Amino acid sequence: MNRLKNKVVLITGAGRGIGRACALAAAKEGADIVISDVEKNIEDVPYDLSSSLQLEKTETDCRNFGASVLKIFADVTKIEEISAMIQEVMDRFGRIDVLINNAGIGAPAGKATHEHTEKEWKVLINVNLSGPWRMIKMVAPIMINQNCGSIINIASTAGLLGYKHFVGYVASKHGVIGLTKSAALDYALNNVRVNAICPGPVFDDEDVDGSMTKVVADSLGIQLGEQEEIDLQSVAMGTVVSPNDVADAAVWLGSDESLRVTGSSITVDAGYSIK
Ligand code: NAP
Repeated sequence: MNRLKNKVVLITGAGRGIGRACALAAAKEGADIVISDVEKNIEDVPYDLSSSLQLEKTETDCRNFGASVLKIFADVTKIEEISAMIQEVMDRFGRIDVLINNAGIGAPAGKATHEHTEKEWKVLINVNLSGPWRMIKMVAPIMINQNCGSIINIASTAGLLGYKHFVGYVASKHGVIGLTKSAALDYALNNVRVNAICPGPVFDDEDVDGSMTKVVADSLGIQLGEQEEIDLQSVAMGTVVSPNDVADAAVWLGSDESLRVTGSSITVDAGYSIK
């Protein structure tokens, strides 16, 4: 309890899934919370993004833990929306201690590298890689000025391994690992830490409205149950990761318990990437 007390934690993509789990975990640990989400569908992304109601649910649930919450709709592909969001956060809280770059998309996918259009390639890079870069661009000066901060990039085991028919996603997440390492070096002397979390397959969880496993199954043209079986067979521990497992790692990286940890990519994958 209270491992994030007096800290302001900003989470992108907090309407559902891992982002929502991170917001609830940070609220439980005493943080002031900023939650953001895109609230509309994105051209070239072949599935529905979440509704404003989902971000409102995250807001209400965080408040129920006693947290102060600021909810903002912002698209991580739009630097002007990020800039307006950061201004609003500074007006309200005056600081940002932890940034969780969680917003991400899992598709377009499901075909060989050469079969993708340039638009499909670009949308994955734009959201998954350039999105965290834009957030760091706007938040790092604030953390440097504070002489403290923790930036947590939600990458993936797809940032460490190849996945057949997921080239844009895999390339974007490998990029996130590179972004993490270089930014960690850039800010090490400013006491601003930058780390990545690499979740393996995370089952969709009704409590946090996750839907990424369904996105993967739909992309490959198979049933959700089949994808879940494939995931179960692939994890050494015989049980897949939950959004809360990822949130627990994010709380640790955001807290002062990890003060000497920077530039690392921590797998939370139930042994998926051991071999
Ligand atoms: P999710 O349920 O689809 O949640 C993704 C969140 O990102 C949603 O809230 C979505 O907004 C938001 N988002 C998407 N594009 C955005 C944009 N342009 N601007 C702002 N927000 C945007 O997926 P998830 O499974 O929780 O994934 C969260 C992160 O974990 C992603 O980076 C993903 O790559 C990574 N990850 C997931 C898994 C997995 O198996 N689930 C495994 C490894 C890594 P809306 O709420 O409007 O839809």
